[in-house]
Amino acid sequence: MSISKNLLEIKSSLPEHVSLVAVSKTKPVSNLMEAYNAGQRIFGENKIQEMVEKHEQMPKDIQWHMIGHVQRNKVKYMAEFVSLIHGVDSLKLLSEIDKQAKRHDRIIDCLLQIKIAKEDSKFGMSAKDASALLLSEEFSELKNINILGLMGMATFTDNMKQIENEFNFLKSTFDELKIQCPKLKIISMGMSGDYQLAIDCGSNMIRVGSSIFGARNYMN
Ligand SMILES: *Cc1c(COP(=O)(O)O)cnc(C)c1O
Repeated sequence: MSISKNLLEIKSSLPEHVSLVAVSKTKPVSNLMEAYNAGQRIFGENKIQEMVEKHEQMPKDIQWHMIGHVQRNKVKYMAEFVSLIHGVDSLKLLSEIDKQAKRHDRIIDCLLQIKIAKEDSKFGMSAKDASALLLSEEFSELKNINILGLMGMATFTDNMKQIENEFNFLKSTFDELKIQCPKLKIISMGMSGDYQLAIDCGSNMIRVGSSIFGARNYMN
């Protein structure tokens, strides 16, 4: 199957309210261009340097999403163009994003990453910490960031029941936080192996890589 066929097949199966982030990490620009020419405009990368290089080489109407763990000292490299940062997990990081956004006179959209997996290796905040962050005075002073929703990564497992529980947890966390922060609208959850389940559990933004571009050569 070709990249464009994979893409169009997935897109045609999605409900209208679900947006598709094409996760292109490790893939060459030629692969991304094939998806672009098939109409894809949202691309997700997990390394800032790689995203910066691809941004320089590709058409400027692409929306670049940073879906990986963000190191504070690298925010400055993407602040000028990044469209949505999925993995925000601390007020410290948010303050740095705000500072860099201000330098470029823009407001950067962000998602708070909630830890929903049992594994220790996954990043993210607890629901309680996310709630406290949204209520904090420090947060209210940040004028150049905009929290649009939540992101979560389920445990890497074949146990679909466990994944479903983790997705349901993210959805209920979203529903609770939305009461104190009504502008939240995005729930970013679901990848190649579980995006249908994620949509059933309330996701409206899925991050799909290998089902579009094929398997990656190394784990990322
Ligand atoms: C790599 C990655 C994906 C996509 O994974 P696939 O299984 O290839 O669809 C989604 N989200 C994040 C955060 C990733 O790092």
